[in-house]
Amino acid sequence: MKNLPRIPIAHLPTPIEELPRLSEALGGPRLWVKRDDQTGLAFGGNKTRKLEYLAAEAQAQGALTLITAGAVQSNHCRQTAAAAAKLGFECILVLAGDPSEASSANYLLDRLLGVEVLWANWESRHDDLQRAYERAVKDGREPYLVPYGGSSPTGAAAYAYAIEEMLAQDLDPDWIIFASSSGGTHAGLVAGAHLCGYQGKVLGISIDEPEEILQARVATIASDVTKLLGEPTTFSPESVLVNADYLGLGYGIPSYLEKEAIQVFARHEALLLDPVYTGRVAGGMMDLISKEYFSPDETVLFWHTGGTPALFADKYRQFFA
Ligand SMILES: *Cc1c(COP(=O)(O)O)cnc(C)c1O
Repeated sequence: MKNLPRIPIAHLPTPIEELPRLSEALGGPRLWVKRDDQTGLAFGGNKTRKLEYLAAEAQAQGALTLITAGAVQSNHCRQTAAAAAKLGFECILVLAGDPSEASSANYLLDRLLGVEVLWANWESRHDDLQRAYERAVKDGREPYLVPYGGSSPTGAAAYAYAIEEMLAQDLDPDWIIFASSSGGTHAGLVAGAHLCGYQGKVLGISIDEPEEILQARVATIASDVTKLLGEPTTFSPESVLVNADYLGLGYGIPSYLEKEAIQVFARHEALLLDPVYTGRVAGGMMDLISKEYFSPDETVLFWHTGGTPALFADKYRQFFA
């Protein structure tokens, strides 16, 4: 794999830990966790890996401002705000949601990190981001548009390198399971698996998209990542493993599935998950284990993508009470 320009802001490699008490409690396969909740930048998460490459691209273009969008409790926005603060960019966040939502959790951290917030509707968030970007260009603020979820080929490439990192840690699991939403993490892992000859299965649990839509998105980004890394391959949507059985009532609306999983992970391994992404994946994984989807002699790596600050969001206070 070609080396892309990178600014080292993440704590890498992230640890890999075995989860023996959880495996036993679930009567399941051997479980491991990859701690990308520990990437270090203002509580870290998977976007920090992507931002090492995105910020390098922004710097190379002479950008002065990072601009991106997400939900009020977006982990991606909080990590972008942190990268901007650390590297001396200004930061504009286009947040979809209710401005009257108290500044708790990720949104509190955004404010602390010194961002400028513009408000958008959920439905029009992509257009609103585009408009905000054009405005910043006109105002001479030299903005770099960090795509939704950081999932451009440049951002996603970080997860191709992450496969290399995992294999160098001497873990070669039969399965990798993780949260997939804007698709960049998933695409990078798929591309990295191919480029590194990793033979295990890369199973993304969809957080908010139907199976076919996410498969197509991931295949496109993964193909672009291999092109960017100098070894072009075309992935078909059907080759991308997506499970969209756990969408529940939608994005950011946790239910009993997430609540139970968050408690089980906390009480057996003191591993903290989040209500939007990793809690949903863990709930799905527990359901799959109960259905004997994995065979008992297999190893499963739960790739923790972060998001834990959302545990402290006002929005979810009642949920955990
Ligand atoms: C953004 C995010 C994801 C999804 O990653 P994508 O690359 O957008 O698919 C998963 N988990 C957490 C905690 C996230 O913040």
